[in-house]
Amino acid sequence: MLACRIHAREDLRVEPQDMPVPGPGEVLLELGAGGICGSDLHYFFEGRNGNFVVREPLIPGHEASAVVAGIGPGVTRVKLGDKVAVSPSHACGRCGYCREGREQLCENMRFLGSASVFPHAQGMFRGHFVMGERQCFPVEGDISLGELAFAEPLAVALHAVNRGGELLGKSVLITGAGTIGCLTVLAARLAGAARITVSDVLDRPLAQAATVGADVVRHAVRDGDALSRPQFDVTYEVSGSFAALETCVAAAKRGGVIVQVGTLPHEPLPFVVNELMAKELDLRGAFRWGIEFDWAVRYLASRRVDVRPLLSGQYPLADAVEAFRAAADKNRSTKVQLVA
Ligand code: ZN
Repeated sequence: MLACRIHAREDLRVEPQDMPVPGPGEVLLELGAGGICGSDLHYFFEGRNGNFVVREPLIPGHEASAVVAGIGPGVTRVKLGDKVAVSPSHACGRCGYCREGREQLCENMRFLGSASVFPHAQGMFRGHFVMGERQCFPVEGDISLGELAFAEPLAVALHAVNRGGELLGKSVLITGAGTIGCLTVLAARLAGAARITVSDVLDRPLAQAATVGADVVRHAVRDGDALSRPQFDVTYEVSGSFAALETCVAAAKRGGVIVQVGTLPHEPLPFVVNELMAKELDLRGAFRWGIEFDWAVRYLASRRVDVRPLLSGQYPLADAVEAFRAAADKNRSTKVQLVA
């Protein structure tokens, strides 16, 4: 079987790996589909993601679906052949944050495919891997493995919307029309937002956002003046761009909420704190997700949230480098996945 490993910046190797064996309470999974995320791209192109630096070969991949290919002793949650969404979040379940239901803030988190801990938590861009059964969320019905691999990014979007608060009747802005931006459109729609505006610096992602239900799309540069007038109750900064965060600050109504979802560059940033003060804005972080993963699996399985328009292409693991380059090209792709 094959595994993708990032050894350093722009050095991704597809290498053979031994077939793992599940122990008690563990499940052997065959990769169904694994979505390439912005953080995977940061690791590939920069050798780091924000503050998390690759210090040993890292198997990326934290958005995956799989098929159960083997069962360890005592497993009851899944059976052979089940389709599962795989939760990459290994929270400890014991710290204060876990106990208050905010596992994304866990003090002892191991999140798959992340260099946030050392040794790194190896991810799921490989043919087979072993997981504890509690990481597996089985589904029935005709949902495809490609759709099911959206559980993780959809959970991110649902969590972002939760962090922003009540949306019924509200006007919202989402800066960034990539996968998370488009999923945030779907999540905000689900939560009752009255009017959803999306901005981006590229036309193709904006067109994509319109296909999933954005009411208004604005080019961040060409429509910059119209965009920056105070008009939104809640803004979600998804792109990880400081210019977009400035737009959110300007475009928020007095008393509005800004949710930071994207990862900004590592460099120290200047910030217009006076505007936060004078407009009484609430700036909130949204980091990964908690219970929203369970919700995402259910919304996908019932197609209450239909992510099919967002899947741009699937590549075999052996063509991972090509897949990463396709994923990085936002004029070509929304979500690109690897398949076994
Ligand atoms: Zn914990």
